[in-house]
Amino acid sequence: MSSLLITNADVVTLDEENRFFENGSVYIEDQQIVAVGNFAADRYAADRSIDAGGCVVMPGLINAHHHLYSTFARGFTPPGPPPRNFVENLQKLWWKLDRALDADDVYYSALLALMHAARAGCTTVIDHHASPSCCDGSLDQVERAFRDVGLSGCLSYEVSDRNCDGEGIEENERYIRKCHAADDDQMVAMLGMHALMTLGTATLERCAALATELDVGFHVHAGEDEIDVKVTEERYGKRLMDRFMEFGIAGPKTIFVHGIHFDARELDLLHSTDSMLVINPESNMNNGLGSAPVLDMLQSGVLVGMGTDGMSSHLISQARAMYMQQRSIHRDPTLAFVEACDILLRNNRSIANRLFREPRGALAPGQLADIVIPEYVPFTPLNENTFFGHLLFGLGFAAVRTTIARGRVIVADGRIAHLDEAAIRAQCAERAPRLWQRIQASS
Ligand SMILES: [Zn+2]
Repeated sequence: MSSLLITNADVVTLDEENRFFENGSVYIEDQQIVAVGNFAADRYAADRSIDAGGCVVMPGLINAHHHLYSTFARGFTPPGPPPRNFVENLQKLWWKLDRALDADDVYYSALLALMHAARAGCTTVIDHHASPSCCDGSLDQVERAFRDVGLSGCLSYEVSDRNCDGEGIEENERYIRKCHAADDDQMVAMLGMHALMTLGTATLERCAALATELDVGFHVHAGEDEIDVKVTEERYGKRLMDRFMEFGIAGPKTIFVHGIHFDARELDLLHSTDSMLVINPESNMNNGLGSAPVLDMLQSGVLVGMGTDGMSSHLISQARAMYMQQRSIHRDPTLAFVEACDILLRNNRSIANRLFREPRGALAPGQLADIVIPEYVPFTPLNENTFFGHLLFGLGFAAVRTTIARGRVIVADGRIAHLDEAAIRAQCAERAPRLWQRIQASS
């Protein structure tokens, strides 16, 4: 057994009573938190101790929707005129980039993004992967990156008919069976699908049968752009949620992503099926796609989470973007601040706790030891009532001093000591331009 004691901390537990401990401590054995509170430093004889230096200590963040494969897009401009709409953006950039990835690119893209995640205080990532030229075994490459960094992951492969019918179904099946056989809660799996606009009836039937057989939920984009609604209505005469319901895709284990174009009845269907819905405010704004009706979603009782959609691995900036966007749209400075923090901290925790067995997202005995210490000593009162203000105006700009994932120190003094970060960056800096050349050659 290994043990770790954190002392001299402003402990933000986010537990059921939302407790806060000034000059508090956290004691960890192996992967679990054993004690949290104001107790004497000699109460536990720990193998290792960390003096938090008066900094905030809080639960590791959870990213409810990411695309780790998108890492090498940074700085790349697709050849030709810039994409003018959502479909052109997929066709000119993302579907060319994912097709140009080889297995090592998949590994290094995930590795670099997960290193960034750890440095941004994120310890669990729900990923949605695509790499059609090396589909078979690609989720093993993503998993390898998770294990090398030390974070927890929920993986799925984006099934679509865009290259050939049902592409990715076998990779999902293989990886889901692998996770079930391994019974290792660091890595879990869902059945990934792109979006209804790229999925025909036969593929949806195959996916639905497989998910029932393997008892897993789906991870699927829905209503990110009007075109998804239009294509589904033109081809099948149905709204998105009606089409999903026809195949039994909604349910408490399923994540729908975006939902900008769900109407009130569809939100009720999400609620009545206890489905999960993940918004990605920065991505939507970047793509000029408008805004998810977040307040309506919450009003409908839907479990709404938050992701980065491959934009970055930085989650606090998503919460900032979401509340500012809502205030801007509604021209109301009273809106969405608490909701943004609740979605990021509480709802993402609820989502993760549906997918993983080990409970996480709070500092309390029995929780997975996923803990972050930002380089942040508050200069105004910090307690359970003021924390959200510190989160969005202070912690979001603070570097992370220490990240502990699954009881293991991943980031220490701002460095990931168990990885050769410089060599990994150098490898990525070599791989990215070669990937860009392949994309250009295919355009
Ligand atoms: Zn996405």
